[in-house]
Amino acid sequence: MNAVAQRDGIFLPYSDENWEKMNYIFGIEGFGKGLEVETAVETILKTCVGICKDEKDIQVVVRRSNKQYKLTSPELQNKIVAELIKNNFDIDKKGKTKLVVKIGKKARIYLIPTTEYLGEQFLNGLGGMPASSGGRVGVMLSGGIDSPVAAWQIIKRGCKPVFIHYHSVNDFDPEKGVGEKIGNILKQLKKYYPFPFKLYAINFHPITREIVQNVEPKNRLVLYRRFMYSVSEEIMKKEGCEAYVSGESLGQVASQTLTNLSVISEVTNYEILRPLISMDKKEITALARQIGTFEESIKEYDDTCSKFLPKHPNIHSDLEEIKKLEKKIGKIKPEIREFLIE
Ligand code: ATP
Ligand code: MG
Repeated sequence: MNAVAQRDGIFLPYSDENWEKMNYIFGIEGFGKGLEVETAVETILKTCVGICKDEKDIQVVVRRSNKQYKLTSPELQNKIVAELIKNNFDIDKKGKTKLVVKIGKKARIYLIPTTEYLGEQFLNGLGGMPASSGGRVGVMLSGGIDSPVAAWQIIKRGCKPVFIHYHSVNDFDPEKGVGEKIGNILKQLKKYYPFPFKLYAINFHPITREIVQNVEPKNRLVLYRRFMYSVSEEIMKKEGCEAYVSGESLGQVASQTLTNLSVISEVTNYEILRPLISMDKKEITALARQIGTFEESIKEYDDTCSKFLPKHPNIHSDLEEIKKLEKKIGKIKPEIREFLIE
């Protein structure tokens, strides 16, 4: 019977679907195909010959954790090598593939490309931490390239994401219309996360309208961001989130200078995690392609902030000035809608 091995320990029944899914599970260093059989020597030898049928240059490695087993590792290794030679296989110490036989209660037999064999582990998995082993976070998701990558990186660390998206349309729906882009990005991210996603969609229009009417262009972006973080605190409390996550990267755009990031962070007591902080756009884009969000991210999207922005925003916002402007605008309670993405 074929099996997929997660790390060293867990065997799952093999299917093409299971194999494909292994590329989307965080917390797994590596996986490979293998077989689990009874420890009778005859069975092991027959299985080794079978499993090697499409292989050339093979190296044989035997590891015995069951010290009661009747043969030592070198003794079993010699038997396997002899059997493979008898069956016309090339045995080569520098071979491209390792045939690894582990003797525990049962015998586990794997074929591992030599390049992936390091400390007896497969190293082709996504790594990271298992889903939901970390805390809850509020992910600020725009329709751009960066924030889906930031979301992926934080899911990788085991955090449970609650998505927060600001838009400027009536009847926002992640299934249709303008909102479909956000729905599609979340569907792609969902491949890496086994539980439903919650999405809060907030109509930012009443706030942007006030900002545009009351604030000169150069200060608008920092105000938008500060409003986003303060309005979202209601969601953070309700969902028990411990930190925000954003896709900001230092110096990428005018709103992301160190001064502006500090002025933005000041508005909330929640930690703001910025997993992309040191990455170049080129690196972020490469990762977005690998994750599979890039194609959707580059589709046209009129998110709430792209309108009415100046060519030359203030790169050194003044906190006191920003606070005065906020006071002038006052508190606004926008409409918040809640969705479940399964
Ligand atoms: P992105 O590709 O993520 O849109 P960006 O380079 O366009 O990033 P900004 O527009 O300055 O950067 O946004 C910085 C961060 O603010 C985003 O990565 C995201 O976390 C948050 N953000 C921006 N717009 C929105 C929005 N409409 N709703 C929720 N969060 C947003
Ligand atoms: Mg953006």
